[in-house]
Amino acid sequence: MNALHRHEEERVEEVLQNLRAKGIRITDTRRAVLSYLVASHEHPSAEKIYRDLLPQFPSMSLATVYNNIKVLIDEGVVSEIKVRNDTTTYFDFMGHDHLNVVCEKCGRIADVDIEVPDLRKEAASQSGYQITKTQMTVYGICPDCQKN
Ligand SMILES: [Zn+2]
Ligand SMILES: [Zn+2]
Repeated sequence: MNALHRHEEERVEEVLQNLRAKGIRITDTRRAVLSYLVASHEHPSAEKIYRDLLPQFPSMSLATVYNNIKVLIDEGVVSEIKVRNDTTTYFDFMGHDHLNVVCEKCGRIADVDIEVPDLRKEAASQSGYQITKTQMTVYGICPDCQKN
């Protein structure tokens, strides 16, 4: 895994602090999974994260990776991306405002830089719900697949 840039490290610490404030225990694997997602510029699956972190954490299980990702999804900092005709779920750290645009044919995921409104806050204030999770993904056909 690549070393984190300073601003990425700050994001990791910020998220960990929020988790700690909620009484969530910060384990080495929790930190590692979060760091991995923050540093990744792809949209990795849990299996890929597991495989890549295994040399560092030989006793970690895939279930632990899933569990750590779930905590981050609940925290609202990681989003799940489903690709058509693909049972794998991909994950993305939503550290900067962007939308994930998924190709319905080949499954390629592109990032679109766009200012995304704070959906949790908006939804909570307008509905009175306590928001547990938000999902926003855009689907389409990528330029390559449009040619074929
Ligand atoms: Zn495509
Ligand atoms: Zn993305």
